[in-house]
Amino acid sequence: MKKILLSVDPRELWKFTLDEDGYRTEVETLESEERYLTELEENQLAIIEHYGFEHQLDKLVEECAELIQARMKAKSGSENIDRFDNVIEEIADIKNIISQMELHWPYMKEGVMAFTKYKMSREIGRINRG
Ligand SMILES: [Mg+2]
Repeated sequence: MKKILLSVDPRELWKFTLDEDGYRTEVETLESEERYLTELEENQLAIIEHYGFEHQLDKLVEECAELIQARMKAKSGSENIDRFDNVIEEIADIKNIISQMELHWPYMKEGVMAFTKYKMSREIGRINRG
């Protein structure tokens, strides 16, 4: 099993948080995390190391377009639950590439988490305000 030191590049050993307006407020040093990769993660990392980050970013955009198409088809389909199979497949493609990118570039994982927390908090605020 391949052991990986996540947060490999010392220049990327930092993360940010967002204020209530979505602006970066602080930069923290991240602790390096050393752990064993699962077989799935090993394969995901091997794929992004083979094709490169920029290539996989373009691939992610392509997969998003495939999800749009699958959703449009599922909307006009029958009542059969199987019509969502292609939607599920495209979501898996998207999640797979995002996982590759986050393994390859831990800073992105931190950034996505910061924006996720900010946007969830903002949306809950909107819901609560009615
Ligand atoms: Mg696809």
